[in-house]
Amino acid sequence: MQGMMMHMPLRIIDILGYAAEAHPGAEIVSVRTEGDLHRETYAQAYKRAGQLAHGLAGLGVGDGDRVATLAWNGYRHFELYYAISGMGAVCHTINPRLSAEQMLYIITHAEDRVLCLDLTFVPLVEALADQLPDGLQLVLMTDRAYMPDSALDFLCYEELLAGRPATYDWPVMDENAAAGLCYTSGTTGHPKGALYSHRSTVLHALSVALTIPRSLHQGARILPVVPMFHVNSWGLPYAAPLVGASLVMPGGKLDGPSLFDLMESEAVTASWGVPTVWLGLRAEIEARGAKPAALDQVVIGGSAAPRAMIAFFEGLGVDVCHAWGMTEMSPVGTHGQLPPAMQELDRASMLDAKAKQGRRMFGVEMKIVGEDGARLPHDGQAVGELFVRGNGIVSGYFANPEASAAALDAEGWFGTGDVASIDANGFLSIQDRSKDLIKSGGEWISSIDLENIAMAHPNVANCAVIAVPHPKWDERPLLVVVPKGNAPALSEIHALMLEHVAKWQLPDDMVVVDELPLTATGKVSKLTLRQRFGDHVLP
Ligand code: ADP
Repeated sequence: MQGMMMHMPLRIIDILGYAAEAHPGAEIVSVRTEGDLHRETYAQAYKRAGQLAHGLAGLGVGDGDRVATLAWNGYRHFELYYAISGMGAVCHTINPRLSAEQMLYIITHAEDRVLCLDLTFVPLVEALADQLPDGLQLVLMTDRAYMPDSALDFLCYEELLAGRPATYDWPVMDENAAAGLCYTSGTTGHPKGALYSHRSTVLHALSVALTIPRSLHQGARILPVVPMFHVNSWGLPYAAPLVGASLVMPGGKLDGPSLFDLMESEAVTASWGVPTVWLGLRAEIEARGAKPAALDQVVIGGSAAPRAMIAFFEGLGVDVCHAWGMTEMSPVGTHGQLPPAMQELDRASMLDAKAKQGRRMFGVEMKIVGEDGARLPHDGQAVGELFVRGNGIVSGYFANPEASAAALDAEGWFGTGDVASIDANGFLSIQDRSKDLIKSGGEWISSIDLENIAMAHPNVANCAVIAVPHPKWDERPLLVVVPKGNAPALSEIHALMLEHVAKWQLPDDMVVVDELPLTATGKVSKLTLRQRFGDHVLP
C-alpha cells in the first residue's frame, strides 16, 4: 500500500528560495578578488540567481549541460551553485590547484559548455587557452570596471545579469537529475567524477544541518575555509541557508593572519577546514595571545586532525568536531560530536575520543571487512577496509564504466580505500589510506597514529610518516618533520611514541624538511614524499 502524501521532488533551488523568505536577515559576506568586502542577503542572492539563470540560458545552457566554475569561496560562486542546478544544468566545480593536464582532462571529459572564473585565475586559463575545447564560453566573475585586457574573449558576469528579471521559472525536475559534478584529485590514473543529484544534495544538506548544530543554527556566522571548488565546501553552501546561518567567505585569503582578522571583524562563530589551514590560524592565535572572540567551533576533516591540534583549540574553549568524508560521499560521512554520556569524560579521554573520526551521520551506513571480504566486528579492535552506503554516496563515476564497475562490492557498498576500526559506540577510527599503510614484516603500521604522537612534541610544526622499502621487512616507517624552532631528536619522539605503540612500530629514521608537499586539496601528499624519499637509506 502506498502512502498518500504529496510528492514534491527535492530541488536545490528551494533551499535558497526558503532562506530568502525564512531568513531574510542572514547574509553572505565575501572577501572579493577585487579587494573589498561585499555583503548580500539570501533574499538578494536568490534574485541574482534568477538573473544569472536567465543569463546562462541566453548563452545556450540547457538541461543537463555542464557549467564549470574555477573560483574561491564568494557570493558569485554561491549564486552559480544555485542558478546552474536550479535551471536543470550541472555545476562542475574545478579545483584550481590541479595540474594543467588534469584540469584540461576534466574540462574535456565533462564536456563543459561554459567556464566561470574568478579574476585570480585569468593567467591560468590564458596559459591553457590553446588547448581548451572549441566553443567553451568563458565568463569572468567580475564587473566591467575590472575586465582585463586579454587575448581571450571573456564575457562579464555582471553584464550577464544586468537588466534580467529577478524571477525565474525554476523547472520541476526528477529529483534524481544531476545537479553537481566534482572530480576526485585521483592520485593514480585520471580524476573520476562524482555526479551529485538534487536529491542527494538536499538530503546531505539536511543531515549535515541536523548533525552539527553547534556550527549550524539561526544567527550563526560560519567561515568555510574548505573550498567551494572541491567537495562542495562540505555542504555548507546548502546547509547554512537551510538553517539561517550567515556565510563569511574568505575568497583567496587563507593565511592565518587574514583568517584571524576576518573572523574577528565578522564575529565568526564557526569555521570548517582541513588540518593544514588550522596550523596557520594556530600560529596567529599564539602570536596574538587570544582567539577570535566569537569563535565557538572548528570542524576539522579531510585528513586526520592531530590530537595536539584538538587539544589546542579545546584549551581555548573552542569545540572541535572531527569529521571524515570523501568527494564520493557528498562529502560528509561522520562527525565528532560526543554523545551526552561522553561529555563528562576527563580531558585525556575526551581528547582520545575527539581524535577519532566520529560517528556516522544519518544516511550513511558503514562496515569494515577483512581481506577475505567477511565483515569484521565493531569492537574497536578489528581493522579492515571501510565500505559505506547511503543516499549521498556515489553509485558509480560519471562517464567512466570501468571505474564504476570497480566502485561497489557485491552487496552494493562503496569501497572507500580507507582502513579503519569502528568501536562499540560507533566511533570510526581511520588508520590510513590502504595505499599509505606501512607493511613491515607482514604487520601493519598506521602512519596516522605515529604522526599524531609526533605532532605532540613542542618542536614539531608538522610531520608525516611514510613507508620506505626495506630489504628484510619489506617496508619500514620514515618520519618526515617540519620543525618548530630547533629540530627535535628522533630519540625524544621515540620516547613519546613508546607510551602508545610497540617498539617495532617506531620510525627507523627521521628527515627534516622546510615544508611538506600538499595535494590539490591541501592534504600532505604522501605520494610526493614517497617519490622523494623512496631511496632513503635507513640506518
Ligand atoms: P581528495 O584527496 O581528492 O580531496 P577526498 O576529499 O575525497 O579526496 O578525500 C577523501 C579521503 O580523505 C578519505 O578517503 C580519507 O582517506 C581522507 N580523510 C578525510 N577526512 C579524514 C579524517 N578526518 N581523518 C583521516 N582521513 C581523512
